[in-house]
Amino acid sequence: MTILRAQDLAINFGGIKAVDGITFDVNKGEIFTIIGPNGAGKTTIFNLISRIYQATSGKLVFDGDDITHMPPHRIAGRGIARTFQNVELFEHATLLQNLLLGQHAHRKTRPWEEVLFLPRVRVAEREIRRRVEEIIDFLDLQHYRDVVVQHLPYGVRKVIEVARALCTQPKLILLDEPSSGLNVEETEDLSFWIRDIRDDLGITVVMVEHDLALVNDVSDRVMAVNYGRLIATGTPADVQNHPDVIKAYLGG
Ligand code: ATP
Repeated sequence: MTILRAQDLAINFGGIKAVDGITFDVNKGEIFTIIGPNGAGKTTIFNLISRIYQATSGKLVFDGDDITHMPPHRIAGRGIARTFQNVELFEHATLLQNLLLGQHAHRKTRPWEEVLFLPRVRVAEREIRRRVEEIIDFLDLQHYRDVVVQHLPYGVRKVIEVARALCTQPKLILLDEPSSGLNVEETEDLSFWIRDIRDDLGITVVMVEHDLALVNDVSDRVMAVNYGRLIATGTPADVQNHPDVIKAYLGG
């Protein structure tokens, strides 16, 4: 079953066709990876899906709804979460506070109810806490729970960013270069929890990734892009052996 469909998706920046008429489907429950050389348009595809950019043309359908023109602030509530290439956290807050702060945008209670601290608000607060603690356990972050984020190593901060995205209870998570800046051991751990996100939490994963060993290890399907165009889609092995993909990586 398709959870995300991009149809003829395109965006121009001045004369640059950053994404130039791409069509693809992501199936519910799969790990779908976008690869391609630098500047190929991968992050732009993420920015289109998360609605940071408005497509020049084409259509995006998520879980049965046309989201092509959905305002970006509604995307998380609709079930799409994402991480960024550069980790952006509240540096002076603890891990727990970062995760709780990340939840404010997703509250269903109204501001006046919160001022009065009505029972509905207390229930919502408890639910948020429960969800945050669950994700802390899930990603094995208990040890760092009360540590101020700026004192934590980069690898842990990257996991916290994923935790923050998972706390919004998405149906689909977009991971932008999750392995960048991680050492070998951290990248191995990453491959386990990417699978756990899918298998244990039932969340579909779409990622942009450069580490081809990781791509091979976890992806169900891979889509290669270059110059904003799709050049191949299929199993990791099929795509990496595709002559056009080899050519793109060699700069041909
Ligand atoms: P990398 O692997 O280096 O992150 P990428 O595949 O993610 O690259 P994009 O960042 O999507 O590539 O960029 C695709 C093209 O679109 C590039 O030529 C880039 O300069 C251009 N581009 C992206 N965003 C903008 C923007 N906001 N304004 C102008 N040009 C942009």
